[in-house]
Order: sequence, then structure tokens, then C-alpha cells
Amino acid sequence: MASTSEKGAAGTADKLAAAFGRQLSLSSRSVHADDHTNDHAAVAPPMHVSTTFRYADEPDKLVPWSDTDPDAADNFWIYSREKAPTATRYEAILSSLLGGPAVSYASGLAAFHAMIVFLNPKRVAIGQGYHGCHGILKLMKKLNGLEQLDLENEADLAKLQPGDVLHVETPLNPTGEARDLAYYRKKADELGCYLTVDATFAPPPLQDPFQHGADIVMHSGTKYFGGHSDMLSGVLAIRPDRARGGGGDGGQPGWLQGLREERLHLGGVMGSLEGWLGVRSLRTLELRVMRQAENAQRLVDWLAAQKKAGGNVVADLVYRIQHASQQPEASDPDSWLRKQMPNGYGPVFSLWLKTEEHAKRLPSKLFLFHHATSLGGVESLIEWRAMSDAAVDRRLVRVSVGVEGWEDLRDDLLQGLQALNAELKN
Ligand SMILES: *Cc1c(COP(=O)(O)O)cnc(C)c1O
Repeated sequence: MASTSEKGAAGTADKLAAAFGRQLSLSSRSVHADDHTNDHAAVAPPMHVSTTFRYADEPDKLVPWSDTDPDAADNFWIYSREKAPTATRYEAILSSLLGGPAVSYASGLAAFHAMIVFLNPKRVAIGQGYHGCHGILKLMKKLNGLEQLDLENEADLAKLQPGDVLHVETPLNPTGEARDLAYYRKKADELGCYLTVDATFAPPPLQDPFQHGADIVMHSGTKYFGGHSDMLSGVLAIRPDRARGGGGDGGQPGWLQGLREERLHLGGVMGSLEGWLGVRSLRTLELRVMRQAENAQRLVDWLAAQKKAGGNVVADLVYRIQHASQQPEASDPDSWLRKQMPNGYGPVFSLWLKTEEHAKRLPSKLFLFHHATSLGGVESLIEWRAMSDAAVDRRLVRVSVGVEGWEDLRDDLLQGLQALNAELKN
């Protein structure tokens, strides 16, 4: 392997692409996009916990913070609220996987907050979806009167002005249904607005929102990037032509520099342990996500087939299955949905049970699915969604599929529904 100094700070992914004459696969980049940050012979990454970093010994080499070029300063460390080596390594991998420079945050909501503060719109059009983002918009309304509009309401969209934000979550929480990004890009262009996308439910390789016109792609890295239910993180990836200074915005500082500078003051940086766990987890992102997505698809297909056949416990107790694969466009190879999600749909789906009581009791009957909120981990979870979302229909359970054997998950759901049926009949 080439040494660190030969690779330099330009980014290993670019150098490897030049050496191979093509972009390397997603998994190769998951394992190698941070190689340029290796400044030790150890193969496994270190975890640097320092909050502060020594300045150069030689007085002539001292460059005050305000004189450094933020775009070229990846190996220049001062204080960990600005940036720290372990989280920077995590960002190096994510920048390659997401297709745009990535900035990490302490949580998904910290990332969403930083994005809204940075873009500073007067209005944000937002759909249903993750309720926490609505909470941030309410805080912003208190601070500066920001107006929240309904993304799915044409009359509301007509109120948007240049510089405002269309925020699209796809696939949606909690149903796993997708929304057409090209449609919203067109709207954003007509209105002079930014298109921001919460892509948490479909990490790479399931979806690339930059291909469909996103200006910023947001992820709760707590979910699939972490993947083991043991770390909080948030990520903003910036469309490349907006990221660097002097680009799309005619001489303005780039969005990468802008977001980093504002993060220094917001203070919502990732911890070093989380950055280290994140690096470890990203190595297996594609393996995990593809397995989880395949498992989910098999379970949804099985549930849908049972429901269609009738005369069984699934047909008796489940009256609706929601997932992108169940949307009508999924059966049309030329549809926006198949173009937007060519590698499969997300690992989360929702079931509507016959009554609220059924939804509340099903989780307690299962052996393999933990009854818990959140998603994206290797463990399958099920949640009576009313537990954490006051606005949702109380008959809904959300399922986040893990990496277990799908037949085991199927049999667990089947025995759980049977046990529930027996209990509620009596
Ligand atoms: C979990 C989640 C968030 C919030 O992320 P945190 O890391 O919990 O702050 C935002 N959007 C979606 C779609 C999520 O699932």
C-alpha cells in the first residue's frame, strides 16, 4: 500500500479513481476512502480523544486560524469543536459514499437545525414524515417567524419565494413510501427555492438524491451509518458545485466552508467515540443495507401474498401494508420510483392492524423483534408507533428489518399474529 504522504490530503477516493481509471465500488470506497488519513502503521483506525492540538513548534510556521484556507485545512487541527481527526475520517468516507462533501453533526436533528440556520429561509415546505424536524421548525418560528408550509398542498407551495426551502423526506417515516424528487426539483427551480432531502430511510446504495437534483442531502447517521443502535450522528452532504467557494453562487464562500464555520458556533459536533464507531460501521454499510432491504422486501412480499390469498391470520389481522414496493409505480419499470430506487426499497415498512389493541399487543408476542423506536440497526425492531409519535394512527406498527435470516423473521411474525389472534378472540 502507498504511504500516507504519497496519497496526500486530496482524498484517497479521487486518487484511487485516477489509478483505476474508474470510480471504485461503494464497498471499496467504504473501506478505503479514508486511507489518506492513516498516519500510523496500524491497520485499524485510532480513536483520537483530544480536544486540543499542539501548534507548530517553529514560530515561522505559525498561521493564525483566520488566515487558514478552510478547504485545504484537513490536516490542520486546533480545537475539537471546530473539527477532530476521528469525525473527519468518518466525513472523508461519507463524502465519497454520498457523492458530495459531508459535514457531520452530533445527531440527525442537529444536522437539520444547522441546515435551516445556514440556508436561513423565510418559509419551509415540509411534508409529514419525521416529527422531530417539525419541532426544529417550530423553534425557528419562535426565533425569527419562519413559516412552515405543507409540501403536499399546491396552494401552500405557491406561497414559496426565492431562497425558501422545499424539504422532502424520502422514503417517508414511518411508512417507507417514497416521494418523487424530480417533481420537487422542478418545483424548486420554478420557485427559485432550495431542495433539501432527508434520505435517512434509503442510504447508499438504495438512493442518490443528488442524481435527482438535491442541493443538500441529510441523513440521521444514527440509523444505517451507525447501523448497530449504539451511536447518534447526523450528516449533511452538499451538492459538489455548491460546496466550494466561487462556484454556483458567484464568488460567495462555498457551502462547505459556511456550514463548517457555523458548526463551530452551534457546537453540535460528533463525539470522537461516535466518529470511531461510525468509521467501523461504514465499512459494512453496503453489506448491511442490501441484506436488510432484501429481508424487508421478502417479508413485505410474503405479507402481501398472504393478505391477497385470504383465509389466514395475516389476512384477518393486517388490513394495510405500506412500503415503497406497494406503491402503484413500483410495477412500472419506467416510473420515477424505479429510477429513483433502482437497487431496491428501504428496510422499513408499516403495518396497520385491525384495531389499536392489536397494534399495541403484537410487539409483546414476538421473540426476535425488539419493541423499540428507531431503525437501521442490525437488530429487527417493531414499534407500536403511538408510543413515540402522537400524530400517527394508533393502529400502526412500524417495522425496521435487521440482518437476521428472513425466514426466522417471517416465522416470528406468523407465530406472533397467531398468538395475538388466540388472545383477542377469548
Ligand atoms: C431519526 C431520524 C431523524 C433524526 O435523527 P436523530 O439522529 O435521532 O437526531 C431525522 N429524520 C429521519 C427520517 C429519522 O429517521
